Amino acid sequence: MDAVLVSACLRGVPCRFDGRDKAASALPGLLAGRRAVPFCPEQAGGLPTPRRPAELSGGDGHAVLDGRARVVEDTGRDVTDAFVEGARRALAEALREGCAEAVLMPRSPSCGRGAVHDGSFDGTLVEGDGVTAALLERHGIAVRGVPGV
Ligand code: SF4
Repeated sequence: MDAVLVSACLRGVPCRFDGRDKAASALPGLLAGRRAVPFCPEQAGGLPTPRRPAELSGGDGHAVLDGRARVVEDTGRDVTDAFVEGARRALAEALREGCAEAVLMPRSPSCGRGAVHDGSFDGTLVEGDGVTAALLERHGIAVRGVPGV
């Protein structure tokens, strides 16, 4: 059976920064009977739950991977290394499980696809991808967000 990497919070795992999940009713339709592989890059990168909110600063996930941007918490602490490590682990999991596609949480600095917060912590969105979404895309894994969350 085909497998799809899924943001763990969308599957009901309480792994978000605030210790909650983001279970999505649209997920079963997007999976279309394929096997879900839940994964949380931020936990896998070594960050605790709950944790401080973090946003991309100076560019999106592609810029982070290229060393041109960072991920920072609202305290100013730089957590770029944990986000990049989480992305690497997500990619390894996707490859190990044979995932050709990923369904990820919108707007997240890890999982967001197409739009992410701009680093001002005021809700402003800019065009771009999270760090994990960017790395998966660079390795040929199609990433899509789940609507309605
Ligand atoms: Fe959900 Fe991804 Fe954030 Fe983990 S890193 S809580 S899977 S959006």
